[in-house]
Amino acid sequence: MRDVRVRFAPSPTGNLHIGGARTALFNWLFARHNNGKMILRVDDTDLERSTGDSMKAIIDGLKWLGIDWDEGPIYQSKRLDLYKNYADKLVKEGKAYYCFCTKEELDEMRKEAQKAGKPPMYSGKCRNLPADEVKKYMDEGKKYVVRLKVPKEGKTTVHDIIRGDVEFDNSTFDDFIIMKSDNMPTYNFATVIDDYDLKISHIIRGEEHLSNTPKQILIYDALGFEKPSFAHVSMILAPDRSKLSKRHGATSVQEFRDLGYLPEAIINYITLLGWIPSDGEEVFSTEKSISEFTLDRVSKNPAIYDTKKLTWLNGIYIRDCDIDRLTKEVIPFLINKGLIGDNYDYDYIKKVVSAVREREKTLNEIAEAMSYYFNDEFDYDEKGVKKYFEKDGVDNILKEAIEVLDKVDDFNLVETEKAYRDLIEKLDIKSGDLFHPTRLAISGKTFGPGLFDIMELLGKKKTIERIKKAIKYIENIKGK
Ligand code: GLU
Repeated sequence: MRDVRVRFAPSPTGNLHIGGARTALFNWLFARHNNGKMILRVDDTDLERSTGDSMKAIIDGLKWLGIDWDEGPIYQSKRLDLYKNYADKLVKEGKAYYCFCTKEELDEMRKEAQKAGKPPMYSGKCRNLPADEVKKYMDEGKKYVVRLKVPKEGKTTVHDIIRGDVEFDNSTFDDFIIMKSDNMPTYNFATVIDDYDLKISHIIRGEEHLSNTPKQILIYDALGFEKPSFAHVSMILAPDRSKLSKRHGATSVQEFRDLGYLPEAIINYITLLGWIPSDGEEVFSTEKSISEFTLDRVSKNPAIYDTKKLTWLNGIYIRDCDIDRLTKEVIPFLINKGLIGDNYDYDYIKKVVSAVREREKTLNEIAEAMSYYFNDEFDYDEKGVKKYFEKDGVDNILKEAIEVLDKVDDFNLVETEKAYRDLIEKLDIKSGDLFHPTRLAISGKTFGPGLFDIMELLGKKKTIERIKKAIKYIENIKGK
């Protein structure tokens, strides 16, 4: 096998989406598995649609995911001479030609084809223009494009590592454009020149490019370039098997980052969009996928995009995350929600994160679940109010609770629990009669971390204040 050199070649016209991220990842896994090189190339010859902001967003997204590269970014817009030289060479060798057809002439051709019930194809009108005519048009300054002379017969076969051989009849191609009238190369042309020039050994990209590949092969052949190996990764479809779109929720890496997903969960998830380790386990480390990743095991079938699965995986990674790292990841979410300012108590935050993390699946959910530790103003859960606050005698029970809690000097979970157990015995009530309304009083919720953990974290003063406030609320609804 040649030295492995692969590339990720985004067009900088938007954010890094799940599909692009998967293409980048599969190239990267393949490079790392084979001790090869990963190259980042920027397909920015569409000057109108390409933006620096998009490229920055794509680079940020890759870095955040931990996908790195050995060479690049290499910008196509800075290599325009290279494409022009090769186009000139092809024209000189008679393998490509200048086409001076105007928009009106092309429209006419399209109409003719339509009438004849044929697909719209270039007729080949300028394919054999005599040299003096070409010169005359050039001297007149007539606009032109460069077209490849495509063989009219025979077949072009794509040997695809994932799909096997895919054959295309050359008669289905017209003499397609390789250089536009503004001297810019078309995608198919620039990509072949660069993939050759950068010594790319394997081209791994989305299935949507499979129909471009025979055209690229025709260009390789015209230039006499050695061809790389090709692998087209399946489409990613929505759960209902329709084309993935905005209405299926977040699809860009940035959106997932802002929603509080961990990069390793996203990496694990997008690896699963077409690949799975040999043991069939769905949760795996990047080290494992690097060590096992081969293209022949990439699935031919469309991958189904399912954010529920991603969220499930994220919950697993959150549970396994080092507590300091998790705390640092959660802090921006807390700041964002206005729950803490710049001057925060790291150790306290860390304790709260460790109290709530178990049940939550995203960083945002963790921050949400931490709200009542920082914010005294919260609503009581409605169902909880009906069940626990509207119960007879609950206000008196809570009053007794305040008294015993007030006497606890060392306000830790052992001491508060002891005080509560004694009170339950003394009042001869069920533990739920005291625990449930207390939880609702101090957190507004009917579920969450251990009650005495919450109390310890809130401290004596806050715990008692919140119970007092709840008693007032209860008296109010009872009209006392
Ligand atoms: N810029 C193209 C894209 O983003 C690259 C396709 C390829 O990998 O050749 O789809």
